[in-house]
Amino acid sequence: MRLSRYFLPVLKENPSEAQIVSHRLMLRAGMIKQSSAGIYSWLPLGFKVLKKIEGIVHEEQMRAGHVPMLMPTIQPAELWKESGRYDDYGQEMLRITDRHDRDMLFGPTNEEMITDIFRAHVNSYKDLPLTLYHIQWKFRDEIRPRFGVMRGREFYMKDGYNFDLTKEDALHAYNRHLVSYLRTYERMGLQAIPMRADGGPIGGDYTHEFLVLAETGESEVFYDSAVTDLSFGDREIDYDSVEQCQGVLEEFTTKYARTDETHDEALFNEIPEDRRRVARGIEVGQIFYFGTKYSESMGATVQTGDGKPQPVHMGSHGIGVSRLLGAIIEANHDDSGIIWPEGVTPFHCGIVNLKQGDEAADAACDDLYKALTAAGLDPLYDDRKERAGGKFATMDLIGLPWRITVGPRGLKNGVVELTSRRSGESEELAPEAAVAKIV
Ligand code: ATP
Ligand code: MG
Ligand code: MG
Ligand code: MG
Repeated sequence: MRLSRYFLPVLKENPSEAQIVSHRLMLRAGMIKQSSAGIYSWLPLGFKVLKKIEGIVHEEQMRAGHVPMLMPTIQPAELWKESGRYDDYGQEMLRITDRHDRDMLFGPTNEEMITDIFRAHVNSYKDLPLTLYHIQWKFRDEIRPRFGVMRGREFYMKDGYNFDLTKEDALHAYNRHLVSYLRTYERMGLQAIPMRADGGPIGGDYTHEFLVLAETGESEVFYDSAVTDLSFGDREIDYDSVEQCQGVLEEFTTKYARTDETHDEALFNEIPEDRRRVARGIEVGQIFYFGTKYSESMGATVQTGDGKPQPVHMGSHGIGVSRLLGAIIEANHDDSGIIWPEGVTPFHCGIVNLKQGDEAADAACDDLYKALTAAGLDPLYDDRKERAGGKFATMDLIGLPWRITVGPRGLKNGVVELTSRRSGESEELAPEAAVAKIV
């Protein structure tokens, strides 16, 4: 992409409405524009990162054997009346009346709708196990939308639902989700720690929230510092293996890590004192096993081997796709701007032409652009007639992992400058060598 043809409305000043760094940087880097409280347009750069994150979530869900689909944003109220949640959900639900006076709502989540789809089409235990998911916009009329995309009213969420014959099978689905989430966040350069959370009115031990540690996080968390040494890494996992998935769950959830809702001071005090941590975190996902709550109230049953109908065991599993942009920036920035992890960066590399209009510099930039593109990378070429300082500031702000700086002086010696955004280190090398280093 040539910057002269792109749409990157960078702000020079710090927007006064932004209280936390990720919100400030997303506005300044021209990624989002607020339309009304907690509702945003995703400008090209923000949209590009959102799609990258969505892509990783899809890949990891499909790797785990989960099946993608898409449900609508607008739902009929009847389904929620059946489950009993229409009244329980309260003011976070945006209720809508259509022209025929029918009660509709903008979905805050999809347990009811997916259960309705399941009961219409699945009758036999032979069709289980089944896990369906979608990535779709949600609306929750949050009392205090804030921090940009972190707590929006309209937000993008992956929500998945497992249907299983037995509790045991459903817990395997739970564990599978835990593993797939660990992989998902790590691919985005994030450490998200599974923490025991509150089961809410349904109760039970089977829910974990995934938290990214950050001072600006809205949740208070208590953990054994040893949990931060754990990483999933690039190990192979067989998602069908009950033992392997259970093993990962045990490895990642045995040490103390809880949100304030489930915090137990006595247990916490059993951790050696120098490993006790009280901190703040951003909830980037949650997994939940809730048994037959919806399948019983909504009649989602399957015929078992002996022909009897039995309500299916279910769970739901969410990832805050749009919130992740904020969380990633909170964890990856410096005073000059964002520092994207490679897995989610909007462009792999920036090309800065120090002297637009200089024949040699223009030609060298065009060649670099072609070489990077041919290597399967997606460069952003700043081809504007701007001062070098302004171009550097923009590149630092939008946080691409690599910058190649091209100018007539260097070209006379056959070199360009390659700079790593994260380390800040630069080196001079031949253009082909710079490309080879990035690829
Ligand atoms: P929170 O405690 O932050 O209100 P939640 O527990 O209500 O979140 P879930 O129902 O667990 O949210 O939804 C799954 C994921 O969706 C959350 O883990 C979070 O990452 C994301 N999410 C929830 N609410 C919002 C929101 N208002 N804006 C952006 N993302 C959100
Ligand atoms: Mg909430
Ligand atoms: Mg929560
Ligand atoms: Mg939650």
